[in-house]
Amino acid sequence: MKIIEKAMCSGCRTCVYVCPVKAISVETYRDGFEHIVIDDKLCIQCEKCKSVCPMLNGN
Ligand code: SF4
Ligand code: SF4
Repeated sequence: MKIIEKAMCSGCRTCVYVCPVKAISVETYRDGFEHIVIDDKLCIQCEKCKSVCPMLNGN
């Protein structure tokens, strides 16, 4: 499961809050940028994260 390319992610965490199984966490790169990590073992492919991501939906 991947929402968007890491370079596109603003780290807004909207996806983290909507995921029903808490499969998404935030990690910080050494350069200080944040990106999200999805645990595929937990993910149920509901795609809620994709539907709310502002970077993916142009909001
Ligand atoms: S598809 Fe659903 S379960 Fe998987 S990471 Fe996105 S919101 Fe969570
Ligand atoms: S909702 Fe989109 S931009 Fe926001 S943290 Fe998740 S993947 Fe990144």
